[in-house]
Amino acid sequence: MARIAQKLAEGRTTSFEFFPPKTVAGRRSFERTVGELEALEPNFASVTYGAGGSDRHRTGEVVRWMRQETGIDPMAHMTCIGHSRDDVAGLLVEYRRLGVENILALGGDPPADGSAPCGDYAYALDLLRDVAAPGCFSIGVAAHPQVHPRSPNRASDRRHLATKLRLADFAITQFFFEVEHWTRLVDELAEHGVDKPVIPGIMPIVSAKQVRRMAEMSGAELPGWLCDALDAAADDDEVRRIGVDVASELAAGLLDAGAPGLHLYTLNRADVTKQVCANLRPAAA
Ligand code: FAD
Repeated sequence: MARIAQKLAEGRTTSFEFFPPKTVAGRRSFERTVGELEALEPNFASVTYGAGGSDRHRTGEVVRWMRQETGIDPMAHMTCIGHSRDDVAGLLVEYRRLGVENILALGGDPPADGSAPCGDYAYALDLLRDVAAPGCFSIGVAAHPQVHPRSPNRASDRRHLATKLRLADFAITQFFFEVEHWTRLVDELAEHGVDKPVIPGIMPIVSAKQVRRMAEMSGAELPGWLCDALDAAADDDEVRRIGVDVASELAAGLLDAGAPGLHLYTLNRADVTKQVCANLRPAAA
């Protein structure tokens, strides 16, 4: 059984996000990491798509490898940015041929070099419609608990998310650090009559500089207590210990609050991901 919608209907899921490696050496270490994490028996793993569609071939190649060489069910990320409807139709045919049944339909982040990519899709909803049309994919969308940075206000953010979720099977959230962000998001969707599963995305922090940069880009504000803890950390090892503790506590709190699953942003690292899962095992059982 490979469809995420079906897995969610049967119980809580645990899943991991990976990004495609860019080099041959990176690929070898990536395959080792996936091998280590496969032992944790995730329900699925998602593979990101680079800014401006730059990872198109790498994403497809990793998803193919995962499908054929591992026991993990993959979900391919697809973005609007830089893609024509023909590109997307071609990719969907290829994914069907490979037996990939899960797609995360996203707006996409513009390339870091500031170039303005063109494409046939304005919003993730437009892409979602094309992915849903053949009726053979289980489809997820992105949710932003602390509101997407381009949303003019919270109400508009929730309205557009509710529209996407009426068509999609589930959402996965941007990372955040306090349980209340997830419960509030779920309550707000319920006010729109939407009760599809919203899987919280959890990122164990491995670098204070990196999490600050990612938070700024994604609109995920870091709470004061977390900034203080990171500022007081003596070295990188302590940052990672804080990252694992915070992610483990957050995950346990989300399970208590009724989250339908946990999606861990692995940053292609097995160590911290395994530690968080080990801390959770008694709580998740
Ligand atoms: P959209 O749903 O298009 O929303 C973007 C903004 O437009 C929001 O403010 C929304 O409220 C607004 N909006 C939506 N519809 C309308 C409308 N009809 N009229 C007016 N406003 C509207 N990025 C990548 O490049 N590659 C990845 O692999 C990737 N993976 C991700 C995985 C997860 C789980 C998450 C949460 C994010 C991921 N992202 C990725 C980042 C994501 O692409 C960006 O956050 C992007 O800027 C927005 O994506 P979206 O799918 O929410 O877009």
